[in-house]
Amino acid sequence: MPLCTTEAIILNRYVLGDTSLLVALYTKDYGKLKVVAKGARSAKSKIAGGLEPFTHIQVSFRRREQRELQTLSQVEVVTSFRHLGEDLTKMAYAGAVTEMINRLVIGEEPSPSLFGLLLEALMELNRHPADAGEVLFWGFELRFAVLFGYAPQFVSCPVCHRPLDDGEARFSPALGGVLCPRCFGQDSGALPIAMGTVKVLERIQAMPLSLLSRLKPSRLSQREIAQVLRAFLVYHTEDARELKSLKFLRAVQHEVSGE
Ligand SMILES: [Zn+2]
Repeated sequence: MPLCTTEAIILNRYVLGDTSLLVALYTKDYGKLKVVAKGARSAKSKIAGGLEPFTHIQVSFRRREQRELQTLSQVEVVTSFRHLGEDLTKMAYAGAVTEMINRLVIGEEPSPSLFGLLLEALMELNRHPADAGEVLFWGFELRFAVLFGYAPQFVSCPVCHRPLDDGEARFSPALGGVLCPRCFGQDSGALPIAMGTVKVLERIQAMPLSLLSRLKPSRLSQREIAQVLRAFLVYHTEDARELKSLKFLRAVQHEVSGE
């Protein structure tokens, strides 16, 4: 059994037996992995602190081919992103990011680009005020789609390739972008979207994550972006379940605003 060492992000952890943890990781060199951390919940354990969700670690494990579970041997914390645990909104968006990877990425196919995107998204969520959480999450979603080969088009119509002008527009998850009025007939399920929102989406796609907090989309754009990105994701993943972290956040926001 070779000892493998790689960088990783903790996606989630689950109690296993009396003293152990089952930890879901996204690693730089081995893709998504599940490892067993034996004795991690015992009082003497030195590794438990490094196994908190969202922590960026260097991990060593014994690798057995064809096994679904690997055995963790060592953990060293690289970055703990402690602000993510201090704010409910930040925690919800960090949770949504890791939940997307946990749910939509299958198997051990390594993708250093996806690892880099995950790390960058957590870093920016940690560094920015909580109210930048939503736009950072959209930035993550759009880049995630690009890495999976589904980059949505916001500059020209995906059917006739004409540049979009300021008239009416509809977003088609199936055709992968914003249709011009001539091509509305190509997808009757396309969602109406204001051109102002299309411009915001284009900027979110083009700007580095670190600068996205500068964008202040209108209420209408916020609503439309959340709606089209959700429809886009559902279309490509056939998974219509809402992300648990975001559902929870909405329930809390509703509770607070209802007071
Ligand atoms: Zn067109």
